Amino acid sequence: MSTTVTYEAVIGLEVHAQLLTRSKIFCGCSAAFGAPPNSQTCPVCLGMPGALPVLNRRAVEFAIKTALALGCDITPVCRFHRKNYFYPDMPKNYQISQYELPLAWRGSIEVPADGTTRRVRIHRLHLEEDVGKLLHAGTLQAADYSLVDFNRSGVPLMEIVSEPDIRTPEEAAEYLRQLRAILVYLKVCDGNMEEGSLRCDANVSLRRAGSEELGVKAEVKNMNSFKSVQKALAYEIQRQTQVLEKGGKIVQETRLWDADQELTLPMRSKEYAHDYRYFPEPDLVPLAISQKWIDEIRATLPELPQQRRARFAREYGIPDYDVAVLTTSRPLADYYEKVAKSCQEPKLASNWVMVELLGHLNKDGREIADSPIPPAELAALLGLLKGGSISGKIAKTVFEQMYLTGKSAELIVKEQGLIQISDQDALLQIVEEVLAKHPGPVADYRKGKVQSLTFLVGMVMKSSRGKANPQVVGELLLTRLKGEEPGGGG
Ligand code: ADP
Ligand code: MG
Ligand code: ZN
Repeated sequence: MSTTVTYEAVIGLEVHAQLLTRSKIFCGCSAAFGAPPNSQTCPVCLGMPGALPVLNRRAVEFAIKTALALGCDITPVCRFHRKNYFYPDMPKNYQISQYELPLAWRGSIEVPADGTTRRVRIHRLHLEEDVGKLLHAGTLQAADYSLVDFNRSGVPLMEIVSEPDIRTPEEAAEYLRQLRAILVYLKVCDGNMEEGSLRCDANVSLRRAGSEELGVKAEVKNMNSFKSVQKALAYEIQRQTQVLEKGGKIVQETRLWDADQELTLPMRSKEYAHDYRYFPEPDLVPLAISQKWIDEIRATLPELPQQRRARFAREYGIPDYDVAVLTTSRPLADYYEKVAKSCQEPKLASNWVMVELLGHLNKDGREIADSPIPPAELAALLGLLKGGSISGKIAKTVFEQMYLTGKSAELIVKEQGLIQISDQDALLQIVEEVLAKHPGPVADYRKGKVQSLTFLVGMVMKSSRGKANPQVVGELLLTRLKGEEPGGGG
């Protein structure tokens, strides 16, 4: 007899975010991305002996801002440590990081999951320096030499470590999306995972469902998109399940996600904190953060995604799905608000932004900021639709042309004579023609075949080239088919 054990996955994420400061964390070199190799370096970020680090105030401010947004406690006096290691991309062979006294800790992120929200606790948030970038010539196995670019060395990083509160790969991806949205809303990080300004290491273990104890974890690195984090975790859960089901043991190790083969490969056995021989950085004084400074930064916090979601639901009464889509980024949420406010039709605005506008932008790989239709113009189009000047079908054609030409809805409608025909006399003429041309469906309708009416409305719409007001057409047809005098009476 076989017994089947169900396993539960336990996931914790370590996220590194490059801060959008102009200079590096411990020197005045530019932190900008994309400059020629080694053009943004000095003795400090090259790791020359005797060069002294000076802490970048803006980097601390960004970390405090993020900590506040995540509801963390800020450590009044924290300090920096040296994390010793063999770093081929960091000649001083230690990284200045934070260890037992991080800048902040104990926060949380609300993660939407299956129609509810789950609270994922943040364990800690700290500052550290980034290392240089190695470029391996040829394939990794057969490289004759490697090149190193120190432009990235010393770029400020913020590390945000979650508690192991995540349970599924989807939830992990959603946590990352929420965290990214917060960082981007705060303008402390550009959130670009492909360029590496947001990096994620995922820790995952399995345990028997219902157990409280944590299993042995593997740490997966090298994922550069939400999708790859999700896929890597799904793969890792499957791999660990198979090991356990065969009676094997999980070894604590670091694994690499191979995006081409879609699997994780062992990279190195796990190193432990004591291996790093952490000790306090003697070249930096402890960092004291005053309550006054914290309060000043708190006063500059913008409305955060979670607050904005709540307000969108309350103020515009749109469904949760719409709220979630429209608040994925600050520019998109701003765009939607402008349209909704100016046309006074929140649900109509949401449909058109999500379906038509985002549909077109996604297809062209464009961002909302590059939308050829400004919010006021989209609102004007929706105004024409709402007021009955144009039909829904025509509105889509007009949208199409606005998107392509940048012209206003009004101009397009005027130039092409697209104003909806609601005038009864004008429409009646077309209705009569259609009735005369299609005696079959007319007879069918009178015999009780209700669908024939839809057909006849369609014919009128067609012969008016989409300009007829479908509602008025329906009413006119009904009146005629029931044998009453059109326009007469009532
Ligand atoms: P390490 O010392 O190996 O880096 P930490 O305790 O610092 O481990 O935790 C690193 C990350 O791993 C955190 O996000 C934490 O939530 C997560 N984590 C810790 N233990 C486990 C576990 N058994 N299973 C899954 N995730 C874990
Ligand atoms: Mg760790
Ligand atoms: Zn420098």
